[in-house]
Amino acid sequence: MQILDGKALAQKIEEKVSLGAKELKATTGRVPGLAVILVGHDPASQAYVGMKKKACDRAGFYSVTHEMPDDISQEAIVKTIEMMNQNPNIDGILIQLPLPKHIDTTKILEVVAPTKDVDGFHPYNVGRLTTGLSGFVPCTPLGIMELLAEYKIDPKGKNCCIVGASNIVGKPMAALLLNANATVEICHIFTDDLKKHTLNADIILVGAGVINLIKEDMVQENAIVIDIGINRAPDGRLVGDVDYDAVAPKTSYITPVPGGVGPMTIAMLLSNTLKAAQIHAQEEN
Ligand code: NAD
Repeated sequence: MQILDGKALAQKIEEKVSLGAKELKATTGRVPGLAVILVGHDPASQAYVGMKKKACDRAGFYSVTHEMPDDISQEAIVKTIEMMNQNPNIDGILIQLPLPKHIDTTKILEVVAPTKDVDGFHPYNVGRLTTGLSGFVPCTPLGIMELLAEYKIDPKGKNCCIVGASNIVGKPMAALLLNANATVEICHIFTDDLKKHTLNADIILVGAGVINLIKEDMVQENAIVIDIGINRAPDGRLVGDVDYDAVAPKTSYITPVPGGVGPMTIAMLLSNTLKAAQIHAQEEN
């Protein structure tokens, strides 16, 4: 069993991005800029936004967080995004999810200019991804593809079972793996007999938000297991969706939580923001 070390790879990518940002500044004067919109006081969201801001600082990016109260109106969020769309110092716009129930998330995500959509959630970029065209790809699945590539794991022809079918994790993960010529199955809360599907998989990718969802008897010998889940265990530890201690010995490769997919997500956000800044710099010339 080998650990897929997302923390180490994320650091390597961050260093490359910092260099890229320095180079961009030296050649065009442009500093990559990220705007984050944070609505409400969810502690997990606040922690994620804090981590993203620190990562921007490390990479030499400009970043700004727009904090808004829980009862903010849809119109006020739209207005702020439109301002960021027009702001030449901003290359990427990130709406920290989830938004409060009274806000229409789909509509909000559609307001983000596709060239500033560094989370890859705008339908324009979703469409480009599913048709195999270049564009912005959601950070978590993109980071997983980078991690697989780093360890020379080629998904081509492999049976991949994705557990979780959200727009931000499962669905774009499926599109990326399909584009890489894998055979892809997507399971979700209504899937009958989850074990039947996971047992057939060379690569299991799980992002459901359920502690110990993937148990030892659900994983074939030498499978590759990618744990996307982030959960708080009753004892306060951060854990994934995989019963790690029991499953890991059976696998050929596995991601730990923390230190697997999580750091890669942040590294990809930086990478996408640099890419946006490079595109904007080119458009200016
Ligand atoms: P979500 O609630 O939007 O989607 C969860 C998905 O899992 C749904 O498709 C649901 O049908 C499925 N599911 C839930 N329970 C299941 C079960 N018992 N069996 C099979 N499928 C089940 O959540 P999300 O935003 O996609 O996040 C999923 C998990 O990934 C969470 O733990 C989240 O914290 C984590 N996450 C991690 C990162 C990262 O950077 N590592 C990024 C995003 C999300």
